Amino acid sequence: MSTTKKANPTMPDDLSNVEFETSEDIEVISSFDSMNLNEDLLRGIYAYGFEKPSAIQQRAIRPIIKGRDVIAQAQSGTGKTATFSIGVLQSIDIQTRETQALILSPTRELALQIQKVILALGEFMNVQCHACIGGRTLGEDIRKLDYGQHVVAGTPGRVFDMIRRRNLRTRSIKLLVLDEADEMLNKGFKEQIYDVYRFLPPYTQVVLLSATLPHEILEITSKFMTDPIRILVKRDELTLEGIKQFFVAVEHEEWKFDTLCDLYDTLTITQAVIFCNTKRKVDWLTEKMKEANFTVSSMHGDMPQKERDSIMKEFRQGKSRVLITTDVWARGIDVQQVSLVINYDLPNNRELYIHRIGRSGRFGRKGVAINFVKSDDIRILRDIEQYYSTQIDEMPMNVADLI
Ligand code: ADP
Repeated sequence: MSTTKKANPTMPDDLSNVEFETSEDIEVISSFDSMNLNEDLLRGIYAYGFEKPSAIQQRAIRPIIKGRDVIAQAQSGTGKTATFSIGVLQSIDIQTRETQALILSPTRELALQIQKVILALGEFMNVQCHACIGGRTLGEDIRKLDYGQHVVAGTPGRVFDMIRRRNLRTRSIKLLVLDEADEMLNKGFKEQIYDVYRFLPPYTQVVLLSATLPHEILEITSKFMTDPIRILVKRDELTLEGIKQFFVAVEHEEWKFDTLCDLYDTLTITQAVIFCNTKRKVDWLTEKMKEANFTVSSMHGDMPQKERDSIMKEFRQGKSRVLITTDVWARGIDVQQVSLVINYDLPNNRELYIHRIGRSGRFGRKGVAINFVKSDDIRILRDIEQYYSTQIDEMPMNVADLI
């Protein structure tokens, strides 16, 4: 969640005119007022700065509230978090403090961001929402859960731990949300998700969301979803008009560093995120940039949670402007001021490309993505370009003007 509470005043066409492929005819509801939301929730939505629902919100909120299983795909930064958050908030009974909705996401930072959105939209509802994540003390989790939490947003490992210890009681859970669903159902997480799922009451409603939902993932959803409504985006409509994509041909790995230094002034126009493929490389690049007297911060999954938290905080507040990181940052994180993404290394798969560049250009803002490509990387870049029917040109001299 961004610290600014202002909604983007102009919702560009590509946010409201997306063509979806839906599994059945669904209603498109063009205002929050017409969604039959409870009044306190509606107040929370407007107080948060939202005026009009985005395309995915217009389509997916109602089915979630009606209790349908839902698979919702929409481009990055177009309001999926608020989609399920409004769905969750409308579905819970605030009178009891039993946990009624569980939201799982792949990183701790994302779970914390979701918790903040739920608390903000639910400001006038008195909602209790706990972020149940690794890297924090068990005692704190236990105390919060014992107090009673309507909603739990967490990462699978810690959530399962709390369920097994019976601190997180599942008997009243009626809604399970998997954010970044394709990642959650991928090899690394799948077993953990099934572990959690087995503890949920039968007939728990399931809602899946992501910007990317490859076929193989959609195929396994029939195992735990009942007659889901599918709201999908065609592959060639997945990249956003507002995010311009470029490449710089660097030939050798060694040239990347100088290229990055040359771009530093451009990086700091607003805020920028630089992706490397390994934690070691993040550390190495950070050191090297600092030695060359550039101010940068960095984050990856081997850092203590306290440090991760403070780096996130500084970056969200705009106190740091350039963040070097791994794919721990690729999905879901919303910092509206980020307008530039650099792929220092090309990502290891097509989905990650969409998520990484989607850290810029949030909710219709302008964004620029710059890919550093060694000679033998060109092939990979062309594959991405073709797969998404998008255009990745050579970086122009005046790239700073586009930010
Ligand atoms: P996604 O999950 O699709 O990547 P988010 O839910 O993080 O996108 O939303 C991206 C940004 O857009 C956030 O800063 C969010 O507050 C903002 N946003 C979402 N819905 C609306 C809306 N209806 N009106 C204005 N801003 C919105």
